[in-house]
Amino acid sequence: MSRLVSQIWGQLQKSAKSWILVLMKISLALVLMTNVFAQEPAVFPAKVSQVYRVRLDKDAGLLESITSIIQKHGIKDGAVLTAVGAMSTCTYHGVGGGKQTIAEPMEINSLGGVIANGEPHIHVMLTNAKRGAFGGHLENGCKVGNRVELTIAQFSGQPLARKRGALEKK
Ligand SMILES: [Zn+2]
Repeated sequence: MSRLVSQIWGQLQKSAKSWILVLMKISLALVLMTNVFAQEPAVFPAKVSQVYRVRLDKDAGLLESITSIIQKHGIKDGAVLTAVGAMSTCTYHGVGGGKQTIAEPMEINSLGGVIANGEPHIHVMLTNAKRGAFGGHLENGCKVGNRVELTIAQFSGQPLARKRGALEKK
């Protein structure tokens, strides 16, 4: 009789162990699932309500002009999509570096950024023969060399919401 009891007790212990394993697996799965959900991108559907095609002439300030267009047309939410042209001087900063000013002929090879809550956040990639490619976060004080043509889009719909601390400091 006592042998039977110890057999049953043994079985119960085994099944308790397997139940603990199952519970551990379930909790692990839940933890993994919450991590997957936490990494979901935040999506803000929007429509392009207006596109501004802009020509800037010699000596115009690049960021100053973009800021004035944003203010004049009340662009709260948008993007600076493209820019091509030549610059005579440009100031920018990179992550972990201070402001840098280059005062020599250079070309805009790429420029783009977001306008969120009426504030532009723009990155620029410049080139010239001497330095190759350089650039960073666009600052005031960049002057157009000959001409720059840029395209700015204005969005309507759900505005881009930013998390605090998600952006590098300006
Ligand atoms: Zn930046």
